[in-house]
Amino acid sequence: MPSAGPPAGDALEAVYERIRHEVAARAVRLWDTALALHRDPEPAYEEHRAARRLTAELAREGFRVDRGTAGLATAFTASAGGGRGPRVALLLEYDALPGLGHACGHNLIAAAGLGAALALRAALGDPPGTLLAVGTPAEERGGGKVALVEAGVFDGVDAALMVHPGVHSWSWAPLTASAQVRVGFHGRAAHPTGNPTDGIDALGALVQLFNSLGVLHRRLPAGSHVQGIVTDGGRATNIVPEYAEGLFGLRGATTAALEALSGELRRCAEGTAAATGTGVTVERVGARYEHFRDSPVLSGRFAGHLARAGIELTEPEAGVYLGSSDIGNVSTRLPAVHPFVAVMDAAGGSDHTPAFAAAAASHRGRRVLLAAAEALACTAADVLLRPEVRARAWAALRERAAAGL
Ligand SMILES: [Zn+2]
Ligand SMILES: [Zn+2]
Repeated sequence: MPSAGPPAGDALEAVYERIRHEVAARAVRLWDTALALHRDPEPAYEEHRAARRLTAELAREGFRVDRGTAGLATAFTASAGGGRGPRVALLLEYDALPGLGHACGHNLIAAAGLGAALALRAALGDPPGTLLAVGTPAEERGGGKVALVEAGVFDGVDAALMVHPGVHSWSWAPLTASAQVRVGFHGRAAHPTGNPTDGIDALGALVQLFNSLGVLHRRLPAGSHVQGIVTDGGRATNIVPEYAEGLFGLRGATTAALEALSGELRRCAEGTAAATGTGVTVERVGARYEHFRDSPVLSGRFAGHLARAGIELTEPEAGVYLGSSDIGNVSTRLPAVHPFVAVMDAAGGSDHTPAFAAAAASHRGRRVLLAAAEALACTAADVLLRPEVRARAWAALRERAAAGL
């Protein structure tokens, strides 16, 4: 490798070849790790054994490990290299779903990120910059990455790379922005027949809001959606409800669309309060997930590397949205990838099902894990070794941000 400037094509090919070798050398260990997590699923914020297992593997190969990052007991950062120079982060998710185990396949995300980190470190020796493996808990509920972003974990990082198992093989994930809003209507209790004219029916107001949202729904842009549930509908049928409360899940194709929808919900709630003589409180609950902004420069590199293992990625189907994730909050700040790689066919159903949990421990899951670890490591090598890749990724991010995409 030349001592100055970016490596020539042949030198890069040699790095990719060493990565291939280093992943293969760890195949048994990586699959054992994926299966161990699968056998021992821990839900959001309770992933203590998973975090211990993963950090032990990283420490064993010389990574410096910090646990409890951003005040989250089950988050961690592990780093190799350092000083000046580029910084690349591999993101490891490892929370499971209550009652369903690893039905979102985060055991494969963790093992792929671990494999990429170990293989790249071994392939590069002393990396020219910093290689980070970041343990990001609670993707399914709460949003560990939101706290990690706010704590500055990604400040000065040039790229965040992860892969998600799925029922499609798509180079990027169409993930909407999402948030939850609690709406409470305040009325006045009365006896329904004893003194009905003194009562103000808070539940009536909440039902009215659901009706208004049904009308609003017809004119929402693609990707925007509201789903409400009643969380408090009164106490007894012989009392006019003095308080009623709903919880609303909001989604938007972009974070700006989500904010617009949030404003619409607030106006509907205030209008309903005015019409029904109730008081109303509207408040955000929990963290906001921003929409996912793909880095086409890096997802293109990832797809090219994955193709060598015989797995072809395509663009997502137009107009399809697949939920939301806290990777959104990372992807709007630095170049990021979040491709889907199929471990099950779409005909078999979706993730968050028992069938998907089985796929996350299947032979196909193993093949995807090893191919993804290699492709992630090669993409991370591109970030560390090729200044022009970093420059193009940052330029593309700025362009998309300016366009509101
Ligand atoms: Zn999930
Ligand atoms: Zn997931």
